Amino acid sequence: MEKFKIIDGHCDTLTNLLDRPSTIDDPKNHVNIEKLIKGGVYIQFFAAWIGSKHKYGSPLQRGLKLIDRYNTMLAKNSRIVPILEWKDTKDIKDNQIGALLTVECGSILEGELANLRILHKLGVRLMTLTWNHRNEICDGILEANSKSGLSNLGISVIQEMNRLNMIIDVSHISVSGFWDVIEHSKDPIIASHSNAKALCPHVRNLDNDQILAISKVKGLIGINFYPTFLSSQNSCGIDEIIRHIEYIAGLGGIDIIGFGSDFDGIDKLPQDINGPQDFPKIINRLLQLNYLENDVKKICSENYLRILKTVLK
Ligand SMILES: [Zn+2]
Repeated sequence: MEKFKIIDGHCDTLTNLLDRPSTIDDPKNHVNIEKLIKGGVYIQFFAAWIGSKHKYGSPLQRGLKLIDRYNTMLAKNSRIVPILEWKDTKDIKDNQIGALLTVECGSILEGELANLRILHKLGVRLMTLTWNHRNEICDGILEANSKSGLSNLGISVIQEMNRLNMIIDVSHISVSGFWDVIEHSKDPIIASHSNAKALCPHVRNLDNDQILAISKVKGLIGINFYPTFLSSQNSCGIDEIIRHIEYIAGLGGIDIIGFGSDFDGIDKLPQDINGPQDFPKIINRLLQLNYLENDVKKICSENYLRILKTVLK
């Protein structure tokens, strides 16, 4: 599987490192070093998931604690190396894993653009603009009665993320917010962990117009492994992951597909998928279905590498 190196655009392992607490060696987490190496993962995005103020306190303080856990992970493990710019992706040796620090929910900014610039200095290279609810930037997808998109601050955040070479992530955002981001971002955007609504009609999934819009801006959709987002049926396995890959590729092209597992952020897993060590099972299934090796490589990492090259520079 050496030739099929994986980039996974979303996991919530930092939450476990802080709240459990645990380390990146812990076998109880979906994601640990051994499983990443076994699965051929070359770059893992690590999300600092902010969660609600009510439960976790100040969003910025919460985010900084998660970033502190991330920094401790890097300090204690020379096999995990941070990705800050495009050239760093080329320096990852065998038996090393690149780590890209992300923030899940723009509430971390607490309404201040200055905090975005500070987070960039701390190494954050992607921000998911919202989680499911309203924040100062935009509404999330669970604000069911709202038609609200980006606020004025939200538009400034998009412009500043473009200027800072940060990746804009639209997973979780309201539908109006999605279209506002498409209108205002100069760089390609991604939905780091979302699936196709046509196959599984969950609000967190993307409709056909959204998939086509992401394709038009040469963005990317990371396939989410959460069974609830893969299928409305009771049983869910690797075939459901493949169905979303096939459907989204059929609509928007193979160049917009990546993985966004959501490991350690989901309470159920598809059958036969227990963590990153099982990525080779998905690759094998694609090859059995006569996917071209070049297309499998695009899904596994090359599409993400294009985004990293275009946006991070
Ligand atoms: Zn999420």
